[in-house]
Amino acid sequence: MAINKKSKAKAKSNSEKISNFSKFFNKSVKSYKEKTGRLPWQRGWHITNNTPWFNHVNAVNNKVYGYFMNQIILSMSAEENGFTSNKWISKGNIQKNNGTWKGSATWVYGWFFWEEDMKDKDGKTLKDDKGKIKKRSGFNFRTFPVWNVDQCSNLPEKLASEEVEAVEYTPLEGRLDIAEEYISNIGAKVEFGKNGAYYKPSMDYIGMPNFEQFKTPENYYSTYVHELVHWTKTKDRCDRADNHKTRKAYAFEELIAEIGAVHVMNNLGIQMDQDAFDNHLAYVDSWLGALDDDTTFLVDACMQAEKAVKFLNSFQTKEELKKVA
Ligand SMILES: [Zn+2]
Repeated sequence: MAINKKSKAKAKSNSEKISNFSKFFNKSVKSYKEKTGRLPWQRGWHITNNTPWFNHVNAVNNKVYGYFMNQIILSMSAEENGFTSNKWISKGNIQKNNGTWKGSATWVYGWFFWEEDMKDKDGKTLKDDKGKIKKRSGFNFRTFPVWNVDQCSNLPEKLASEEVEAVEYTPLEGRLDIAEEYISNIGAKVEFGKNGAYYKPSMDYIGMPNFEQFKTPENYYSTYVHELVHWTKTKDRCDRADNHKTRKAYAFEELIAEIGAVHVMNNLGIQMDQDAFDNHLAYVDSWLGALDDDTTFLVDACMQAEKAVKFLNSFQTKEELKKVA
């Protein structure tokens, strides 16, 4: 009997897979908050107890894992399990290197390119006028397991877990200069001497109190960068709907600004000021509530934050980005 193609299990669509991933991500973030009393990106940048934070790499090629959410997932897992390495490795690469692993995997995600020949309904390959096979292509969303090298044994020296060397940090003063340069390269219109920090879309400017009015330089830059993320929301920049009519829409935009600011500050090497988070605690609960009826709320916010940060980075020269990396 011929195989009935229709009886094959239907491959899950990207949106179904993203929805499943979102549920998993929401659950992890909520349970992290219950256990630690804060959100995973509110831990601050400085590394304590040698636990890596937001700088997780593939052990084989030393490349930083793409996407904010992967960095959040790997950071939560490293903290929870007490891993001291920021290197992660796939099952295939552990086996290829004759290593072994113990304990559970941490799941990250990526987009994978696919391409295939186009066929007609009888299964015949379609060709264009010039006789070239027609192709169709796209990207598939996929989650995959990785293990921290702390969980592995018998890996070759270059992949293995090693003593994390104390990082030599640029002194704070130098980092503040870099932050100043980063901000001035963006060239957003700003007016100082205001009573609060805000972005005013109708006039397209950022209002800021004077530098001296902030308790610390970290507080000043955390606030400034947060407003810069809001500044990216206009149609000609990142084009995020400007609708603050509902509490949920307001929480969404604030969440983007918070996550985006954390990543910029992390790149600049400046500790995010705790006050910057405390000011926002009131609506955190409102968006945590929103997760139950809108599963992709948090995932969308992370993706929008990533887009905003890429936009802000686009004003920097490659040299400057290297300096802050
Ligand atoms: Zn804000």
